[in-house]
Amino acid sequence: MNIVLLGKPGAGKGSVSEFLQKEYGLFHLSTGELCRKHIKEKTSLGVEIEKFISSGQLVPFNLIMQILKNELDKNVKTNYIFDGFPRNISQAKELDNLIKVDMVLLVDVPNHIILDRISKRRICTSCHKVYSVDNVKNNTCLSCGGMLEFRKDDNLETAKHRIELYEQETQPLVDYYKNKIFVVDNSGKPQETLKKLKAITDIVFQK
Ligand code: ADP
Repeated sequence: MNIVLLGKPGAGKGSVSEFLQKEYGLFHLSTGELCRKHIKEKTSLGVEIEKFISSGQLVPFNLIMQILKNELDKNVKTNYIFDGFPRNISQAKELDNLIKVDMVLLVDVPNHIILDRISKRRICTSCHKVYSVDNVKNNTCLSCGGMLEFRKDDNLETAKHRIELYEQETQPLVDYYKNKIFVVDNSGKPQETLKKLKAITDIVFQK
């Protein structure tokens, strides 16, 4: 089973992925995380993509495809959660050439809630777990004790730009995937979302 997650920046694709990983043993592949890893490790790809990420632009097609293919080559090409990929129709077509997308989940949250969540988002510099400042103390990761930091591209201006970019580039994928898409509302509490999500995935996984 390969699942594509759609949703604006800050919609909670990471939390949904975590649930799917635990519940169904799927492999989480986040292109954003892979990009940040390349930048941190200063690989040649990392040096090339840094300016796009920090200004909230999409990484150019050829570079993001290299990053994705490098990762897919390491594993059997099934049981993935694609988080942050595809982000436009060209990427979706390319993904269709590489693997079979079985199901698409759109994580849906209104913009005003998203901007509030992004302003509170912190990420662990060691294990990359994501938190809200409301749920942590001393800027420390509850999972590994690592230091939490504010993502450079999470400032208000860049976040607004990323939401606009999503609306222009990524939203058309809802129609592209219309035969296999499910919408899960994530504007409420995490437990409520997980309940709605489980109702969807239990049906799909038992098919
Ligand atoms: P968010 O969902 O909050 O935007 P991500 O971690 O998915 O965060 O992505 C962070 C950044 O990484 C994006 O703004 C973009 O610059 C780059 N990126 C991630 N995935 C892709 C992709 N599929 N195509 C182009 N750029 C990407």
